[in-house]
Amino acid sequence: MKIGIDLGGSHIGIGIVNEEGKIIEKSETDIDMSFTANFIENYILNEVKKILEKYEIEAIGVASPGTPKNGKITAMVNLGIKELDITSILKKVFSGLIQVRNDAKCAGIAEKTYGSLKQYQDAVFLCLGTGIGGSCFMQGKALSPNRNPGFEIGHMIIQKDGNLCNCGKKGCFETYCSMKKLKNQLIEAMGLEKNTQAKELLNILKQRQNEEKVQLILKQYIQNLNIGLSNITDILEPEAICLGGGFVYFEDVLYKILVEEYYRKRYVFNSQNMPELKLATLGNDAGIIGATISCNI
Ligand SMILES: [Zn+2]
Repeated sequence: MKIGIDLGGSHIGIGIVNEEGKIIEKSETDIDMSFTANFIENYILNEVKKILEKYEIEAIGVASPGTPKNGKITAMVNLGIKELDITSILKKVFSGLIQVRNDAKCAGIAEKTYGSLKQYQDAVFLCLGTGIGGSCFMQGKALSPNRNPGFEIGHMIIQKDGNLCNCGKKGCFETYCSMKKLKNQLIEAMGLEKNTQAKELLNILKQRQNEEKVQLILKQYIQNLNIGLSNITDILEPEAICLGGGFVYFEDVLYKILVEEYYRKRYVFNSQNMPELKLATLGNDAGIIGATISCNI
């Protein structure tokens, strides 16, 4: 059995995963943004200690935002943390194998192994969450550059001199199409409380989605997402593109219009041979499961 830790942009999930890739026990928390690094360390250590008292664990996999290198995580731009030595933290309580990998890579590997990308050889996974991350599979294999995780699709520029990104650049795809951006825009347009949670927001949105200002936000969001997906399609020519992260919960209001917009083929070069668009099927568990599969790679 392995432990999978999914360290998201605003949330931590920790699960025990069996040999079949099933989560048998899970705990999760939102990250207290005012106290980030200590909060993350304390929460992870407490939960892992509890698990180690109960189960025989062979490895711990960590799915992290930013750029993992030599077991440390750097450039967690959405959490405002420059470096987190997650391996040293875990070594305080665990002496076995610890593997740290980028979160979108982990979620992609999980979808490719057990989820909606299982039957495709050439595929792209796109995680639309606090930011946007991605992973790519060609001829069945996860592409993995030597120097950095690669496939920083969220930081592909789709607008010259556009919105300022947490990475310091302007016009990055994620400043237009992350779920965080969409949620903030909707909350502002509908005059809701700033900390309105996704589930509540979705319920309100379903009732108010025909309001003009809401329609405009959704339309612009989908148009920008279509530009990003079309660029990915032209460069990588996947058989399928899987959309995961918080986007999945907004399926009813976003997915159908995205599919219509994408298959109008306005921006795609090989438009006679379009990839399938899929929704992630493992939901929030993909990071945890993928982190444990990463321990075998
Ligand atoms: Zn950026």
